[in-house]
Amino acid sequence: MRASRILLPTLRDAPGDAVARSHQLLVRAGFIRQIGAGLWSYLPFGWRVHRRVEQIIREEMDAIGGQEMLMPVLHPADLWKKSGRYGIPEMFYLKDRVGRDLVLSMTHEEVIAFHASEAIRSYRDLPQIWYHIQIKERDEPRPQGGVLRTREFIMKDSYTLDRDKSGLDEGYTKHELAYDRIFRRSGIRFYKVESDVGMMGGSGAHEYMAPSPAGEDRIVLCDGCDYAANVEMAVSVARPVSVAADQPLTEIATPDVTTIAALATLLGVDEGATMKSVIVVPEDERGGVVLALVRGDHRLHELKLQKALGSTFRPAHPDEIRAAFGAEPGSIGAVNLRGGAVREVLIDPSITDGGYVAGANRTGYHLVGAQHGRDFDARPIDLRHAESDDACVHCGGRLHIEDAIEVGNIFKLGLRYSVPMEATFLDDDGVEKPVWMGSYGIGPARILASAVEQFSDENGIVWPQAIAPYDVWIVPIGDDAIAPSDELDASLATLGVEVFVDDRKLSPGVRFKDADLVGVPLRITIGKRLETDGTIELKHRASGETEVLTPAEAPARLAALVAAAKALPAQP
Ligand SMILES: [Zn+2]
Repeated sequence: MRASRILLPTLRDAPGDAVARSHQLLVRAGFIRQIGAGLWSYLPFGWRVHRRVEQIIREEMDAIGGQEMLMPVLHPADLWKKSGRYGIPEMFYLKDRVGRDLVLSMTHEEVIAFHASEAIRSYRDLPQIWYHIQIKERDEPRPQGGVLRTREFIMKDSYTLDRDKSGLDEGYTKHELAYDRIFRRSGIRFYKVESDVGMMGGSGAHEYMAPSPAGEDRIVLCDGCDYAANVEMAVSVARPVSVAADQPLTEIATPDVTTIAALATLLGVDEGATMKSVIVVPEDERGGVVLALVRGDHRLHELKLQKALGSTFRPAHPDEIRAAFGAEPGSIGAVNLRGGAVREVLIDPSITDGGYVAGANRTGYHLVGAQHGRDFDARPIDLRHAESDDACVHCGGRLHIEDAIEVGNIFKLGLRYSVPMEATFLDDDGVEKPVWMGSYGIGPARILASAVEQFSDENGIVWPQAIAPYDVWIVPIGDDAIAPSDELDASLATLGVEVFVDDRKLSPGVRFKDADLVGVPLRITIGKRLETDGTIELKHRASGETEVLTPAEAPARLAALVAAAKALPAQP
């Protein structure tokens, strides 16, 4: 492809609102342009990268027996009413000209279950893997980060249909293998982490996370083993704190102390030797206040508390706290509760045997030596955030926390959709049974943006070879260089190497700068040296290293480099 025939509007400066590195560089390098909040066009270079990512996904999905199809974005509302998801806030709702309700879909579980209900009759029709690569619409409240969080995007979503749970497990394992290959082939750094199945149930889920400061997720990683989990799920061993057991329970005046830090300072103890009281009201029919206890140096994990309660909750109001505990917020604890005033007390297990500082349920007072099991009862359950420097539960190694971009997820849906959508089959025992389903997503744009986040320098993007817009970028200098550049382009084309020739009438300096900004991995310069000593120059974008080649040896050398870089890298 000749530069003089392609749209490549590079810019000196990034848009003022661009914070994420991928947002800045993809706009500057002429890959994407915005038309509204969360709505982006891919210009030719950006679309080439997207298509290369899609192709890797397609090849690996086909390799596990996936059957590519295409389902609509516009759905009749009835399908979503049937599954019980009609009304979720993330969706776009609309009516047609005669007033029928429709939705713009963001996922296709309902449609898949609908097709399964019509097409799958017998156990002989199973298993199936169906997928498509399709536009998704999402009424995103905070579009940001360029193409990282948008209102319209393309996703590969695949679905497994199986006869039983072990079939679902097999389909899930196939996707784990395919996903591992897809992300490795794409050239990005990633982790597979345990993730939360949410309130919707399901029996297992993993997320694929690309570490990047632009990511909105946080993952916990172990320095000693391969433990990796979303902070939503992570478990860890808390840093040890020494607390004496069997101390007498003593009440101490703590006037004007409102924070854990001030309390620990006043009493001369570690913050981890205090108990933090969090008082909430579950949003269920039973009502009443619940007291959740975490160590003073820990943070309560809202999702874990929600799971422990089996419902959402809100913070208790000060008057509810006074009514239940007989004291002001700040002096609340688990000892000496009035019978029936508190529905339940939960305690994080990092509060071990021994005496802790606790609120006395008397305004302006705390208790020293409060011991779980001796002075109060509570249900032990994991309630806290894993913290950096906690220890790994598997190997004892040190944990650390990184920001990451979610690039894919895999989810065992089980019977969540097949039952309401009546996707059943006749088993060999003559019984009609619901189909077991799994759902598996990948966002090509997230892979594209993650690559830019992970691989760039002060001059621009450094694409992994497999998803670069072109394999080789040629800069011919002077009119005499055009013919040899076309010749090299033609020989490389026969070897399957895709070439971009920057034949624009601009100074070599400007074109070199653009080449670095756009980030094609291999750059060839054809200039005066061809006349003087019969050679051309190859420059590697990532390392900056150069090689001197003759035009005769260049095609084989370049083709070999491209092939080596696209080969599946070893397991990280
Ligand atoms: Zn570990």
